[in-house]
Amino acid sequence: MGSKARVVLYAESEPAAAAAATRAFERIAELDGVMSDYRHDSELSRLSGAPAGEWFGVSDDLLRVLSRAAVVSEASGGAFDATVAPAVALWREARETRRKPDAGSLAAARQRIGWRLVGLDRARRAVRFSVPGVGLDLGGIGKGYAAAEAIGTLRDEGHPAAMVDLGGDLAVGDRPPGAPGWRIRISSTLDDDRDLVLEHVCIATSGDAERSVEIGGVRYSHIIDPRTGVALTRRRAATVIHADGAVADALASAACVVGPSGLGALRRAFPDATVALVAPDDGP
Ligand code: AMP
Ligand code: MG
Repeated sequence: MGSKARVVLYAESEPAAAAAATRAFERIAELDGVMSDYRHDSELSRLSGAPAGEWFGVSDDLLRVLSRAAVVSEASGGAFDATVAPAVALWREARETRRKPDAGSLAAARQRIGWRLVGLDRARRAVRFSVPGVGLDLGGIGKGYAAAEAIGTLRDEGHPAAMVDLGGDLAVGDRPPGAPGWRIRISSTLDDDRDLVLEHVCIATSGDAERSVEIGGVRYSHIIDPRTGVALTRRRAATVIHADGAVADALASAACVVGPSGLGALRRAFPDATVALVAPDDGP
């Protein structure tokens, strides 16, 4: 998933800690093999080449992530959408060529974007694309899912006091012994750093700073509005706290897309989530 993984846990001995950490890293690697879009042999890459109209059997993990993705897509009015892949590809190219995608390519990409194009059959554990050329990008949801899963692995291994950090997406289990919780510092170039003390939640941060490209004096984010296919140009950073890692991750991306004016609706759709957004370009 293209980021470093950090695992912190409490154990009775160093060998026990090392063994448990290894299990957690193995779980993360397993999920990378499911969701990576850089690896051509990942389950996601194989699914993305599936012909339209045919059901394609998927793993429990992929089905769960796609189900969460569909929930957040619907509730955010498509601000989060894992089918944004064709637009992501165009903007990745733009980062290299330093030229904006042309209107024709964007229009063609938009035809293949829309979470409703992905059918899910939970009973048969299968996925079906309704038009050709649909591509999935789980970059906005996969790390949160994996962090939460790794915490689950550590809990199963007998180490519930743990934290997993996948670079912007974290999951914390039981509080460290003798501490009120895990002290998490949310760093954003858009806002002052803040400290939170948490347990049993997932914390996702999405936003500006990293991975943007400047073309003609305009800075384009790696986050794209799936409804237009256009990369965000306003500086935005969001942090979301939620029990479900995939939902937290996806909501953080969605919050950046909807901006301040869409935040109320997003919060109403997810009353269990804490959603914070910094958006200095949107005015007071
Ligand atoms: P995050 O850092 O969690 O916001 O994820 C950003 C990554 O998710 C991008 O690098 C894209 O691969 C993908 N992505 C970008 N925009 C969206 C979007 N609106 N909905 C879903 N995934 C997106
Ligand atoms: Mg995200």
